[in-house]
Amino acid sequence: MWGQPAAAVGTTQNEERAAEQMWARVIEDAQRLQLPTKFLKALPPDFIHVEFDDLRTYAAEYHPAGHRMVLDRSLSFNAAGRILKPLSKMTHKELEVFYHELFHAYLDYLTVIDAQSDEVGHRSDELLHFARGQQACRYGEVQITPIIQRQNETESRYLTQAESWEALNETWAVFIGWAVWHQLEVQHKTKQSMFQEPRQATHWIRRFKTAFEKGEFRGYYVPEDPDERRLARKRYLAQQSQLALEEAVVLMKQVLGFQDDFIERLLTAFGVARTPLCSTTEGKAE
Ligand SMILES: [Zn+2]
Repeated sequence: MWGQPAAAVGTTQNEERAAEQMWARVIEDAQRLQLPTKFLKALPPDFIHVEFDDLRTYAAEYHPAGHRMVLDRSLSFNAAGRILKPLSKMTHKELEVFYHELFHAYLDYLTVIDAQSDEVGHRSDELLHFARGQQACRYGEVQITPIIQRQNETESRYLTQAESWEALNETWAVFIGWAVWHQLEVQHKTKQSMFQEPRQATHWIRRFKTAFEKGEFRGYYVPEDPDERRLARKRYLAQQSQLALEEAVVLMKQVLGFQDDFIERLLTAFGVARTPLCSTTEGKAE
């Protein structure tokens, strides 16, 4: 699965084993780098089909149809475009991109298993349930920046279901990538996990607070309306519509597996004991 040409018809046992080994290596590598693995462990080894192409550096794509992750050739072993290179050989920026795409795959996976379950009264995965609530109450109407260079000029948009799901998906993936890049940066000197080193934790939390105040956790969506798409291929969310602190905390806990005491410290830094709930949750969210 990992970088095998699509020509291979059917999944032989060997291919299955290769996918399992490859995925196990990704998780091992991530553990060695003291990076999050909680959501990686929840993904079946053969869920993602990785392909390589000549994309722009740091460009990557995830296509839910076929669960295809297309990465730039520079992320493959010896840039040969066949198999993924070890995580230890990736730059911090490449790991940010990789984790961003892995998160898209994870949300895709949760959606797939939810759709497959036809059990009566079945409960959605906790994160998916939360995502749908947030989609309705935070991403149904958003502020966008029509001109990227002018961050202060914003306009309001009502999003379709597909648009609001994409806006949420991208916003959350931006945060996941950000979290990993900054974890690597603060752990760089000592190679110790920031959960064991209170000083490093402080650095990460400070960086998070600054990024949050600057409104850096913003996603985008591709407009469905052809007229709107003619004006802009992508619409970027404005600072007012960035990731909420509540969403960040849920992602830290449920996706990245950050420790509770770390999250408590972070909330203390924000001066809140608990995160505020989405203001329009009542009635709107399921
Ligand atoms: Zn993305």
